Amino acid sequence: LTVLGIESSCDDTAAAVVTAERRILSSVVSGQTALHAAFGGVVPEIAARAHAERLDLCVEAALAQAGLRLGALDAIAVTAGPGLIGGVMAGVMLAKGLAAGSGLPLVGVNHLAGHALTPRLTDGIGFPYLMLLVSGGHCQFLRVAGPEDFARLGGTIDDAPGEAFDKVAKLLGLSQPGGPAVEAEAASGDPRAIGLPRPLLDRPGCDLSFSGLKTAVLRARDEAIARDGGLRRAVRADICAAFQAAVAEVLAEKTRRALALAEVPVLAVAGGVAANGAIRAALETVAADTGVRFLAPPLALCTDNAAMIAWAGIERFSLGRRDGMDLAARPRWPLDTAAAPMLGAGK
Ligand code: ATP
Ligand code: FE
Repeated sequence: LTVLGIESSCDDTAAAVVTAERRILSSVVSGQTALHAAFGGVVPEIAARAHAERLDLCVEAALAQAGLRLGALDAIAVTAGPGLIGGVMAGVMLAKGLAAGSGLPLVGVNHLAGHALTPRLTDGIGFPYLMLLVSGGHCQFLRVAGPEDFARLGGTIDDAPGEAFDKVAKLLGLSQPGGPAVEAEAASGDPRAIGLPRPLLDRPGCDLSFSGLKTAVLRARDEAIARDGGLRRAVRADICAAFQAAVAEVLAEKTRRALALAEVPVLAVAGGVAANGAIRAALETVAADTGVRFLAPPLALCTDNAAMIAWAGIERFSLGRRDGMDLAARPRWPLDTAAAPMLGAGK
């Protein structure tokens, strides 16, 4: 079983060819960071146009790298949501065109299911497991019990952690994306030099909050500027270290609770924030304390890519799922309902 995956839900245009034996024959990602850099965020209109321009080329490149023609594949999987609707529509339209032209079956995939099922592609693990999705746009705990069985145990009530890293970097005059910049700066800082809150830690459950932390960083910055007449390099490093430590501590404690609820043998992470060394170490400690295996897929498969979409397509296809030409692009699509019939699903 060999499947083409197509992804265009945010600011990466991607195509990949993956087999049911977990072989990634190709994975092409065309990022748009430079296109949006001047605007301080992803501009939906620009993203949609770029996806429309690049999707064809990405698919061609993915097929060429896999050394396969479309006719040699078994199905076409495409992200049908959630995401920026213009981009999702561009991907779904291309997938429908390819399916109609080739006669291959079409399978719509939930982008979050793609992230959540990635450890099965990279490490071949079985169900159930706990997935912590921590990215620029998402933060949630999912108990994954089957290809279409996701239980959300908790998540952020405001910002995603990657978003918080990006905003903190902006406040401190560091470059974007903020995560790597803040982590590099934190390396020379003292996390205890500045006191920051631990949002929602005093409340039961697995929900998280990051917007208050960002506000506390703003206050710490302004206090330092008022005191020193400017933001000293060493103080900036301390703020970064304190912020990173707060995020790591909150994520670790909430993960401990989620693991207690989930009763699973594996903790897996996905999303760009999982690249952070301090956060990763904190999560590894929790996993070790709890006696579960810790899994972090390679970064290229943790961030947006089409190999995960092809794989999620393989999982759905194997369950007999097919979508018709009425497959809808959906801006919102909570994972809990991924098992529900898709709008206009064929079967
Ligand atoms: P989504 O995939 O949820 O739509 P996204 O595309 O913004 O969102 P990713 O590509 O998974 O998310 O990750 C990007 C985010 O990860 C950015 O917010 C970035 O700052 C953050 N990030 C990357 N590296 C690090 C790091 N070393 N430490 C902390 N955060 C990081
Ligand atoms: Fe994503």
